Amino acid sequence: MLIVMKFGGTSVGSAERIAQAAQLAVDTAAKGHQIVVVTSAMSKVTDLLIGAARQASTGHWDPKLRQELFDRHKSVADALIGKDAARHGEVLEALRQRLDRFEKLCFGLSMVHELTPRLLDAISGTGEMLAAPLVAAAIAARGKASQAVDATELIVTTDQYGGAEPLMDETRAKTAARLKPAIDRGEIPVVTGFIAATADGVMTTLGRGGSDYSASIVGAALDASEVWIWTDVDGVMTANPSEVPEARTLAEISYSEASELAYYGAKVLHYKTILPAFRQRIPVRILNSFNPAHPGTRVSVEGNPSAQGVKAVTSIRGVILIAISGTGMQGIPGIAAKTFDVVADQQANVLMISQASSENNICFVLSAAEAPRVVAALRAALEFELMRGHIEEITAEQQVAIVAAVGDRMQGSPGIAATVFGALGEAGINVIAISQGSSERNISLVVTERDAAGAVRAIHRAFQLEKTS
Ligand code: ADP
Ligand code: ASP
Ligand code: MG
Repeated sequence: MLIVMKFGGTSVGSAERIAQAAQLAVDTAAKGHQIVVVTSAMSKVTDLLIGAARQASTGHWDPKLRQELFDRHKSVADALIGKDAARHGEVLEALRQRLDRFEKLCFGLSMVHELTPRLLDAISGTGEMLAAPLVAAAIAARGKASQAVDATELIVTTDQYGGAEPLMDETRAKTAARLKPAIDRGEIPVVTGFIAATADGVMTTLGRGGSDYSASIVGAALDASEVWIWTDVDGVMTANPSEVPEARTLAEISYSEASELAYYGAKVLHYKTILPAFRQRIPVRILNSFNPAHPGTRVSVEGNPSAQGVKAVTSIRGVILIAISGTGMQGIPGIAAKTFDVVADQQANVLMISQASSENNICFVLSAAEAPRVVAALRAALEFELMRGHIEEITAEQQVAIVAAVGDRMQGSPGIAATVFGALGEAGINVIAISQGSSERNISLVVTERDAAGAVRAIHRAFQLEKTS
């Protein structure tokens, strides 16, 4: 089998963790599998890089940051391969080159005082470029030939900096040409997650947390047998374990459940991860690098057919509810069409939509970063309707959260909505808006951010998710 293994930030967060990741890759190869590794940056490095870029763009470049990054990665190299002078020297040289590039970019920003999304991508992907040589060296030190490969050589994307989309035909051709010969020789390539490049070779990123997406893109491009996501929990759980301590790991979920959960805030998977794997029906596993004996979660077409109703509860914070309302909206065609045209023009991503059947109100939820420009554009586009009084107001409600209950077999199970709202009522939680897709795989609702954790816990308890398997 060809297995693409992705290691997240905490799974490569120290010399010890990288040694463990390398061992997992080598041990799986020893069972007769071909392996491609995709690595994230070491934990917290991406945040540091983004902070450095922002600071540099205000005119302050602090060279100590380069030293800090060098020291952290060098100490890992010392611990992993300090005794192998040749390999150690090569890795340090790779680190220096990558940090030179980082420093030059930041210095440039400090001169021009401007940070474009394109430059932010060029800088924020440095963490993966620093981690990959360390992971490759740790694998090679365990007797399996390995080389670090920048995904800019493999994944071709659009130029939507900060959230680029893969162009799969080009990606497939480049990835196969670059990686297949090495895989066939029995090597383990270590690919940088998160980053990619446009057809012209300009570096892009796939969005925060995007290394999971990198793994499924590379898996799809190579027709891999499986994609394994190694992280710091035992798999996809019935809720975020830091919000619901009694949450349980789900042994099996379907592609659609995984993608709904990721979309509605289960950070364990980047929200776009599932699609490339699903298109080719490549099974995805979510595994714990801190507890590799645990079987984790398997994502497949069928999921777990015996599990009924709601499988998991998620939440997304930092979102804003925009409401367009007015008694005059009734029967006036085109307000919804105009509204969503504006949203599309602004390239904003709508997380949830709800319209009361009285037609007096359309509301939808966006990330807080996108909301201000969408509201301004809506006020401009709907000026006439506002003036005529067809629309009374366009409001943006801050500090709300979406809470979603997800499960394939919610479909056709009566009483689920009653249980959800009963639980919230009992907990004294006010629901601001509700939406259920016609697929019936998801009920999502808006509550204040303050109520989000309580709402998740109340729904989790009402369906006894800590008990079901
Ligand atoms: P990585 O660095 O490995 O990519 P992330 O931090 O991105 O890891 O994702 C793993 C984290 O996702 C877990 O530590 C957990 O806190 C969080 N999480 C949120 N919702 C869920 C869920 N439903 N199941 C499992 N983990 C979840
Ligand atoms: N390092 C990137 C981030 O922190 C990508 C990832 O970890 O998946 O967002
Ligand atoms: Mg992640």
